[in-house]
Amino acid sequence: MTNRAVFLDRDGTLNVDKGYVHRIEDWEWIPGAIDAITMLKKAGFLVIVITNQAGIARGYYDEADMTHLHAIINMELQKHGATIDGFYHCPHHPEFGEVRECECECRKPMPGMIDKASQDFDIDLGRSWLVGDKASDIQAGLAAGVKSILVLTGYGNKERALLGDDAICVTDILAACNYIMAHAYPKPDKPEPNVAYSGTGK
Ligand SMILES: [Mg+2]
Ligand SMILES: [Zn+2]
Repeated sequence: MTNRAVFLDRDGTLNVDKGYVHRIEDWEWIPGAIDAITMLKKAGFLVIVITNQAGIARGYYDEADMTHLHAIINMELQKHGATIDGFYHCPHHPEFGEVRECECECRKPMPGMIDKASQDFDIDLGRSWLVGDKASDIQAGLAAGVKSILVLTGYGNKERALLGDDAICVTDILAACNYIMAHAYPKPDKPEPNVAYSGTGK
C-alpha cells in the first residue's frame, strides 16, 4: 500500500454529462479538468477514473467504443504532460444485460471498482481521495475508506441534498483538486516521513 490515488468519476466530473457519452465528438471537458489532472500527477498521485457505464448493458455502445474514447482522451492529456493511469468501468445495469445489479459489485455506490484498482496499483486508500458529482460516487468512496468530495457540476447540485451536512462539497474538479492539495498529508510535494515505532511491544 504505497501509492496515493485520486479516483475520479467521469461524466459530470471530468466531462459534461450529455448522457451515455461514447463518441469523442460528444466529449466536452469541464473547464479546469485538464489542469486538475496535470496538477494531481505532478503532486505524485495516481489518477484513476471509475465510471458506471450502463450504456453497455443497454446496448447503446460496446466496450471497444468506450476503450477507444478513453485512449483518445489519454492522448489529449499527454499533450499537457498528464495521463490517466487507469480506467475502471461497470458495464452493468439493474434492468438490462446479463449481470443484474444484485450480482454486480462494481456499480457505484458499491466500492468494487475502487477495491480492484487499489489491488492493481498497490494503493493506500486511507491516503487517497475521490471526486464525483453523485451521492453514489461519494457513497462508493466512503465505503472504500477514501475521503470523498462532491462537485456541483453534473448532477452535483441536485445530489447534494442526499448527503449529510458533513459532506465535502466544492464547485468543480479544479476546486476539488485544490482542496486535496490543501488537505493531503503529508503534503504531496514532500517525501513521506519516517515514522519510528516508539511503543514497548515487540
Ligand atoms: Mg457522474
Ligand atoms: Zn458492475
